[in-house]
Amino acid sequence: MKLFDLTGKAALVTGGNGGIGLGIAKGLGGAGARLLIAGRDASKNAGAKAELGGLGIETSTLEIDVTKAGFGEAMAAEAEKRLGGLDILVNNAGVSIAKRPEELTDDDWRQVIDTNLTSVFLGCRAAYPLLKAGGGGKVINIGSMYSLFGAWYSAAYSASKGGVVQITKSLATAWAEDNIQVNAILPGWIDTAMTGRIRARLQGFEEAIRARTPAKRWGTPDDFAGVAVFLASRASDFITGAQIVIDGGYAIQGSV
Ligand code: NDP
Repeated sequence: MKLFDLTGKAALVTGGNGGIGLGIAKGLGGAGARLLIAGRDASKNAGAKAELGGLGIETSTLEIDVTKAGFGEAMAAEAEKRLGGLDILVNNAGVSIAKRPEELTDDDWRQVIDTNLTSVFLGCRAAYPLLKAGGGGKVINIGSMYSLFGAWYSAAYSASKGGVVQITKSLATAWAEDNIQVNAILPGWIDTAMTGRIRARLQGFEEAIRARTPAKRWGTPDDFAGVAVFLASRASDFITGAQIVIDGGYAIQGSV
């Protein structure tokens, strides 16, 4: 039996139409999974479908907003309809609003918490019956360096991503006997649309991150393909509730 083979597995990736989510979708699809990618923007969904198609990966797309009531049930119903069930759920959709805490509005706070954290709970709760019905499954939640750190601009974002790690542990303990493994990936600084906005705003930021990172480069979405395949495959069947940091050594850098 091949350890990393995902042939025939049904996988759903929220925010799979760009950035890290698309990198993960490429990994899972390349290992043989059948894909459903979910995002709000229909044109980004279509672009990702075309890009994956160019790699020989057949993909369905779903236009959905993870902050809207009932999204989890709607997503699970589509997975059942289009993929015939669900084996792998990747909760990747996320937003960041960088402001001082005293400047964050109620709406800012809710948008970040709803998108990054509440969606993980609602998506997992709705997916659970499908994962269980298939004899088990894999959930991969996307945290962040800010699951570990705080910063003056990240009160809502750090609260949401710290919560992602904690809900990962709780779901892992609750569902281990159902043969469902729930793990988190914590990305470092990755070159995507999200960080592009910060780099454009803060002069010297790109270089400062590179200087602190032992690998001396920014991460790319493709850096997430392998770890996603690992966490989605039988190779990780005895790993649950874990966090895997993918950051080129950023978080363990001790020197100035
Ligand atoms: P991008 O901005 O490139 O992608 C974000 C994705 O989330 C898009 O596909 C977007 O699709 C989707 N999304 C956002 N809001 C919603 C929503 N309400 N409903 C459905 N989909 C939504 O960011 P990244 O690829 O960088 O980020 C992906 C994940 O990785 C996020 O959780 C982020 O917090 C995390 N992360 C990123 C880091 C980085 O350095 N880039 C570092 C640490 C963590 P659409 O716009 O079509 O809805």
